[in-house]
Amino acid sequence: MTTRRNFLSSTAKGTVAAALGGLSVGACTGTQPPSTAKSIPLALSTWPFGTKANDEAWKIMAAGGNALDAVEAGVKVIEAAPENSSVGYGGLPDRDGRVTLDACIMNAAGDAGSVSCIEHIMHPISVARRVMEETPHVMLVGDGALQFALEEGFKKENLLTEKSRKAWEEWKLQAQYEPVINAELHDTIGMITIDAAGDIAGACTTSGLAFKMHGRVGDSPVIGAGMYVDNEVGGAAATGMGELVLKTLGSFLIVELMRRGMSPRKACEEAIARIVHKQKDYKKMQVGYIATNKAGDVGAYSLQPGFSYALYQNDENKVVEVNSYL
Ligand code: ASP
Repeated sequence: MTTRRNFLSSTAKGTVAAALGGLSVGACTGTQPPSTAKSIPLALSTWPFGTKANDEAWKIMAAGGNALDAVEAGVKVIEAAPENSSVGYGGLPDRDGRVTLDACIMNAAGDAGSVSCIEHIMHPISVARRVMEETPHVMLVGDGALQFALEEGFKKENLLTEKSRKAWEEWKLQAQYEPVINAELHDTIGMITIDAAGDIAGACTTSGLAFKMHGRVGDSPVIGAGMYVDNEVGGAAATGMGELVLKTLGSFLIVELMRRGMSPRKACEEAIARIVHKQKDYKKMQVGYIATNKAGDVGAYSLQPGFSYALYQNDENKVVEVNSYL
């Protein structure tokens, strides 16, 4: 039987290791600006690749479109990009060689939809939106999610690219290597948009941890963990080691802290502090949070150096480095 302990210490060494690797621990001279109220509309996404998602979302909002259409279209750009090994098509597979995807979406009314461990569908975010809009449910998983997607007319596709297949073959040979921290293997796109009318939406989509156990569910499809928005307050999204985010429900926590008047930046810092105080393995792992309040005041914080976000606001789309705890 696979216990959590022997899973972490043997078969998944490569899994967790790969997902952790590469970043050194030390002081981070982040260039994150101090929190000051900015304007809307805005598109806020995790990681530098978020600029591409922001561009797409901005086009829609600049033409008068709403935040929900913008956030869906934005993350779809990243889902469709084969060069990106952590989201959608081209995402690294689980340890059985299967590409399983997680995604969730929320609108300004507080409705939510989610799919987890879905295979063969290029745009899980759009399936999540259909779950939200066409079913009485919030989450569909695995075969049920795929069945629903096919019924809704989504096309079944092979999402395992040659590059990802080769990476998996290599991983199988090296399953014994020592843990290293590698940002490349855990780069979910989490995205929050606020449109010109002031309405918010959020999305989060990922292939999850590279070489994870088949059936593993991360934070990204879980409402309140990987992403949360409240049209009265603002929104937040997460990237990094999903298990830490799940155990602390980080995105919901950040929104609730902002509801009580905390700045987005401070609320993200507090959510990271919650991980540090409760989770003893935190030094080996990365988690990054982004958040915005309804005024368009944006902030972020991460556990480790190396996190950055993309912000499109006031006609400028830029990447901002984030301060970290370590
Ligand atoms: N949060 C994602 C997960 O744990 C991984 C990531 O951010 O890349 O599935």
